[in-house]
Amino acid sequence: MEKILNYIGGKLQEPVSGNYLDNVEPATGQVYSLIPDSNKEDVDLAVKAAKQAFPSWSKTTKDERSVILYRISELILANLGELAAAESRDNGKPVSLAKSVDIPRAAHNFRFFATAILHFASESHHMEEGAINYTLKSPIGVAGCISPWNLPLYLFSWKIAPALASGNCVVAKPSEITPMSAYLLSKICIEAGLPIGVLNIVHGLGHKVGASITEHKEIPVISFTGGTTTGAQIAKVAAPMFKKLSLELGGKNPTLIFDDCNYNKMLKTVVRSSFANQGQICLCGSRLLIQSSIYEKFKIDFVREVQKLKVGNPKSPDTNQGALVSKLHMEKVLDYIEIAKTEGGKILCGGNQVDLSKEGLGGYFVEPTVIEGLNMSCRTNQEEIFGPVVTIMPFETEEEAIGLSNATSYGLAASVWTENVSRTNRVADQLHMGIVWVNCWLLRDLRTPFGGVKNSGVGREGGFEALRFFTEPKNICIKY
Ligand code: NAD
Repeated sequence: MEKILNYIGGKLQEPVSGNYLDNVEPATGQVYSLIPDSNKEDVDLAVKAAKQAFPSWSKTTKDERSVILYRISELILANLGELAAAESRDNGKPVSLAKSVDIPRAAHNFRFFATAILHFASESHHMEEGAINYTLKSPIGVAGCISPWNLPLYLFSWKIAPALASGNCVVAKPSEITPMSAYLLSKICIEAGLPIGVLNIVHGLGHKVGASITEHKEIPVISFTGGTTTGAQIAKVAAPMFKKLSLELGGKNPTLIFDDCNYNKMLKTVVRSSFANQGQICLCGSRLLIQSSIYEKFKIDFVREVQKLKVGNPKSPDTNQGALVSKLHMEKVLDYIEIAKTEGGKILCGGNQVDLSKEGLGGYFVEPTVIEGLNMSCRTNQEEIFGPVVTIMPFETEEEAIGLSNATSYGLAASVWTENVSRTNRVADQLHMGIVWVNCWLLRDLRTPFGGVKNSGVGREGGFEALRFFTEPKNICIKY
């Protein structure tokens, strides 16, 4: 059985303990590879390698770093088919999605930051007193990057690329649930000639590897994407150590559908924004608010379209919905469907596990599920389910829609459907979210700030925000 290895000091290595964890294929429920069960000792080795590499990596020119990151991007694209198949097998997502979104986007992340660093300028402030200030932006040192399972390579590269581009060395931990594409990335980095120790990837459990990164005295900056509870735990450890922190956390995103929207365009996109990647994208809209004048029509049309989604083998090109990422996660999602029923929710479609064992797929498939009849304060509408489950709810006025949208502890993203320009601006302004899409969803310009408010996180990724995060500004004031 294939063993995934750590990538430390430029080499693929066994974990110090020699212990491995099972890596399960979500579509079959079978173990198909082994993951290093690393611990603090592996993290210490990785930090040592990163510290050794830092003096020379931080002094390479932007051009030199750009060339290497660009090469990594090209190698990701050259291996698109293999990476997409691996990502799909490891995560359960349709291979078509991995091939069209996850892997190209990972390549794009490296390409984007390879060029962004060339344009990253520092400020200068002239004073009438006869002095000039300029801001030096220096790499910080060893950055810790911790990422989740839902968009494995896409989110892993979203952190690593800006950290490396700005001259830091990195100790990174992918999710133990989906480690395979990070392992393949380490092979690509070796092939691309990334200097030894610049990037180190340590596989294993959150409470061992993740916690060791968070607690490590030699890691002054941490970029984390994952659940809100884990984010709070990381903040608790890192804050007294005065670490620089970026936390991209959970969401409970609203989709606001007004009766003046372009209906057909909206319907098509809202099916996707609700169920892409089996609803396991932090940006998926899970609370659909529909203006009452079109509620009944929407309900019929939406349920009809959702029922057309094909749940099946992630490897098949015509599959729309693959497997959920793990048995544990599937059980959590099914539990929430039961909670919704006890809260008075009516299941309009879906609601059940899908048994594909006759096709040799004994894994974790769930029907895309639409629920109505719930109020906004119930658990189903307040807690992040992170699966193929959405609720629909009517509203009368714009004010009501805004109030309902903002009525959770999360504030990551919203999507708004209206053709009215004034309403667009009014609503977008009042939504307490980090990101608002209007008449679209998941349209991403990598230059824009990305992140949430409230329990959805602290800080922003993307574009120059990420390069600012991974550098320390120092003001130099010169009197002349
Ligand atoms: P998670 O918090 O369980 O795990 C995320 C990562 O943190 C994993 O690598 C895990 O091993 C590690 N980890 C766990 N415990 C840790 C600890 N004590 N110290 C340090 N690291 C630890 O999240 P998940 O289940 O992998 O991912 C799903 C969550 O991620 C959802 O809540 C989703 O909304 C969120 N997410 C947010 C964004 C965003 O950009 N805001 C993007 C994707 C996913």
